[in-house]
Amino acid sequence: MKPANSILSSFGTTIFETMSRLAQAHGAINLGQGFPEGLEPADVVAKAAEATLSGPNQYPSMMGVPDLRRAIAAHDRRFYGLDLDPMAEVMVTSGATEALAACLFGLIEPGDEVVLIEPLYDSYLPIILRAGGIPKLVRLAPPHWELPRDALAAAFSERTKLIVLNSPMNPAGKVWDADELAFLAGLLERFDAYAVCDEVYEHLVYDHRRHIPLITLPGMRGRCLKIGSAGKIFSLTGWKVGWVIAAPALLQPVAKAHQYLTFTTPPNLQTAVAHGLGKDDAYYAGLTAMLAARRDRLAAGLERVGFRVLDTGGSYFISADFRPLGFPGGDEDFCRHITEKAGVAAIPVSAFYQGRDVAHFARFCFAKTEAAIDEAVMRLARHFG
Ligand code: PMP
Ligand code: GLN
Repeated sequence: MKPANSILSSFGTTIFETMSRLAQAHGAINLGQGFPEGLEPADVVAKAAEATLSGPNQYPSMMGVPDLRRAIAAHDRRFYGLDLDPMAEVMVTSGATEALAACLFGLIEPGDEVVLIEPLYDSYLPIILRAGGIPKLVRLAPPHWELPRDALAAAFSERTKLIVLNSPMNPAGKVWDADELAFLAGLLERFDAYAVCDEVYEHLVYDHRRHIPLITLPGMRGRCLKIGSAGKIFSLTGWKVGWVIAAPALLQPVAKAHQYLTFTTPPNLQTAVAHGLGKDDAYYAGLTAMLAARRDRLAAGLERVGFRVLDTGGSYFISADFRPLGFPGGDEDFCRHITEKAGVAAIPVSAFYQGRDVAHFARFCFAKTEAAIDEAVMRLARHFG
């Protein structure tokens, strides 16, 4: 048999799939893969059902259903004061994952350097390598995930095409502040580079923090592509409705990739998401408040079990140091162990790094029912006695 593509073949099955299947096999409570439970807004689901029955159910415009493109522009005006032309600056994609792939395939020319920040969401690197990009990794480390500004600056060169910025960050829970973003904006201008901004957790920001899209900073409107996901905003991750907004000159090459990747996204789901984005401010504030309470509930429970829990400012993930529990192995072993033996699944944080030296943190998803959180904590407490 002739070999398949060597770059993609060199990657295993994603950790999210692996841990979810293991959780299923062992009847474990799945706090691994990031998907919410019990938070789906009923009216958005009903709208999808209605749109399915009433149609149309044929290929929508490749750039997205106009109602949704207008709703995305209105959402970004409401929350960030952005002034977008919905027909020229908004494109609907099949999830943020496709938006990322379309941006990377559309912009990277083989040999371009791409700056990436670890911990790193798992779809970035394979696509960048497949597009012929040369990754330049900058590392943030637990427990505080401070930005190493010298290392970030050193990762940029004349050959840098773009950076992928994820804020709020999965799994770190770090929300980039105004000062950090301004520093990055300075580098983008100095090196004439772009930013693909993965902002899928834009509404999941807690306490005193605020999500600031990089695209809203001075000089950044023509350098940033901002990616969003209805999966996160409406707790409907299986729908895979995402989008990218950017100035026309940046969006056009990305649309060239999108038209050959998926071309379009189910129209019924687009219509339902357009309805959802129009929900009042109370919906968005309520989602954040609910998730902040779940975060606190899980964090307190894990602390009682004996974990050292890291601060989470955004996303729906907590990272917890398990060394105080006395487990002898690394994080992959630990996550397998608790899935199989305690009946609670988590994700090893080392899966978000290329090296293996950050190996004593487990990532737990707190976007679950209170009952699931309490039961998971009880199982862990029983197991670690
Ligand atoms: N980016 C990050 C940082 C994520 O955590 C996820 C995961 N859900 C995605 C992108 C993918 O989003 P979607 O499900 O909309 O493809
Ligand atoms: N983004 C989700 C997570 O981090 C999972 C997405 C996936 O399974 N590919 O858990």
